[in-house]
Amino acid sequence: MREELNAIRDDMKAQLAAAGSLDELREIQVAYLGKKGKLTGVLRGMGKLSAEERPVIGQLANEIRDEMGELLEEVRNTLKQKELLSQLEEEQIDVTLPGRRVGRGHKHPLTLVEDRIKEIFSAMGYVVEEGPEVELDHYNFERLNIPKDHPAREMQDTFYVSEDVVLRTHTSPVQARVMDRISPHLPVKIIAPGKVFRRDDDATHSPMFHQVEGLLIDENITFADLKGTLLEFARQMFGEDRKIRLRPSYFPFTEPSAEVDVSCMFCNGAGCRLCGQSGWIEILGSGMVHPKVLEMAGYDPEKAVGFAFGMGIERIAMLKYGIDDMRLLFENDLRFIRQF
Ligand SMILES: [Zn+2]
Repeated sequence: MREELNAIRDDMKAQLAAAGSLDELREIQVAYLGKKGKLTGVLRGMGKLSAEERPVIGQLANEIRDEMGELLEEVRNTLKQKELLSQLEEEQIDVTLPGRRVGRGHKHPLTLVEDRIKEIFSAMGYVVEEGPEVELDHYNFERLNIPKDHPAREMQDTFYVSEDVVLRTHTSPVQARVMDRISPHLPVKIIAPGKVFRRDDDATHSPMFHQVEGLLIDENITFADLKGTLLEFARQMFGEDRKIRLRPSYFPFTEPSAEVDVSCMFCNGAGCRLCGQSGWIEILGSGMVHPKVLEMAGYDPEKAVGFAFGMGIERIAMLKYGIDDMRLLFENDLRFIRQF
């Protein structure tokens, strides 16, 4: 057995000396020192030895294993050096070449539009606020003057988490949350952008989409302030020549309420396919904050008045960039996204 071990040592030495690559080295390591390797194989036969021979052979085997292990490391280091050197020789490096640029991404069109909206309203003194996407029924409905049996709940296909918790169907609950915090102080002047959720899915609806809520509460605020603010927004977003028009509408949390149209940016109001020949395109909903909503937040509706508005960011983006299918905004197709 001693001879067998010495033969293995000599064989392995010879092979290591001849090894030309790290791959070959790994093969040698497995063939001799691995679980099914030659050295291990010999040691398995030790049971047949006499009690005197066993420790002697065992020690020799250990010596060989250690010696071969060290030698293997030495050869490995030499080979590594060699491979590195030959790599460097192969790659004729021209240090004067300009570096390769890492492609930088850019903002998604929805983010661009949201940023622009924030910019426009921030310049008018509005503060950007956020609220939770998983919202209490209390804030999503009750505090907006939409009690449990109100028909307005039917219009909004709500995702319920539990009886009292919903995925917010609009950004309007941020109104009540902010008023709770600030009340009874004035003014309240905020916009609240964010994700909202409804059970809709087609070319013009997505189960997740984005809104921006706006709220201004102060003394002596009138409908004219609402109109002036929204006209300024429409001009900054869609161009200096834009006009707006308000149509009477209904929302439970504003009174009076109005849908706001902007003069068509595609035909400049003359009438085209995109505005249904009317010259006007609806962009948002608005109104004077309902006295009940103010009361619930701790304001005296005799003193505090204000307006609120809400718009869909997807809709604004589609109008601004002439996008005809909302789903394009969520498909993450770079050929589409790179255009903005
Ligand atoms: Zn038009």
